[in-house]
Amino acid sequence: MTPGSPPVVGLDLGGTKIDAALVAADGTVLARHRSPTPATEGPEAVLDALAEAARAVRGPEAAALGVAAAGVIDPVTGTVTSATDTIAGWAGTPLAAGLAARTGLPVACDNDVRAAATTELALPGGSFLYAAVGTGVGGAVAVAGRLLHGVAGAAGHLGHLPSPEATGLPCTCGATGHLEAVAAGPAIAAHYARLTGTSPGPLQRVAAYAGHGDPHALAALTRGARAVGRALGGLANALGPERVVVAGGVLRTGALYRDALCEAFAAELITPLRELRPTAPHVGHDAAVLGAAGLTRTLPLHAPRTRTTGAPR
Ligand SMILES: [Zn+2]
Repeated sequence: MTPGSPPVVGLDLGGTKIDAALVAADGTVLARHRSPTPATEGPEAVLDALAEAARAVRGPEAAALGVAAAGVIDPVTGTVTSATDTIAGWAGTPLAAGLAARTGLPVACDNDVRAAATTELALPGGSFLYAAVGTGVGGAVAVAGRLLHGVAGAAGHLGHLPSPEATGLPCTCGATGHLEAVAAGPAIAAHYARLTGTSPGPLQRVAAYAGHGDPHALAALTRGARAVGRALGGLANALGPERVVVAGGVLRTGALYRDALCEAFAAELITPLRELRPTAPHVGHDAAVLGAAGLTRTLPLHAPRTRTTGAPR
């Protein structure tokens, strides 16, 4: 965005909440709003809630709207290619057209991790790998200042790389042995539960036990970290990025996790990349909405149809 251009709306759609922000040309957040996601009420209700969140922040001057959502999102067609059942009936939803019709604004949309990775495009080193390790494992690949989208928006889904640590474990996508099945926060908690014969609890509890030297907690946490490190190291060898950025809630478990990840990553690297190390994202908690707003300047905008009446079917 050039200085002086009007602000845009950024929307981050999660399984439980919608974050909205009005973002100025210089990246300043001018207004914010948070509302619950009506995840069980179907895609029309979710589109209505997104439009309502946009209305709460947009003011008279917003020029466009960027929306980020989990799942495989195709920014070219503006539709949800596929999604888990976190939001009922979400796959196939015409996200961009539905929001453009409801708000009257041109709309850009993308996967949430790719949107967050958009905030890294402002930094030097335009070829990078971006991984987000949280309740799932997502990612993005940027080459020479552009994020790869792939067929139907499928590029960057690092969570579905085969992982030796995940052999035999079922993945959320229906396959077995994928990185997400061993490295996502719930996967680490589930592994700790298997090792100890207990019910899965929150990841933070496993991290706290690991901090006190519990060998099973240490094993579960570092196995997930190693799996991410190895996968990213292998990808780095394949793509030769200038930077590798690792984001997401699992990183907040602390130094044990980060050290195991970095060690496994470094062990995979071929000689020309041996100085490469994973780094934290440069934008913190606002990356989701700032990234969503940033989509309006990097992706196709879906214009509202003229004389649209009511909700699209
Ligand atoms: Zn998978």
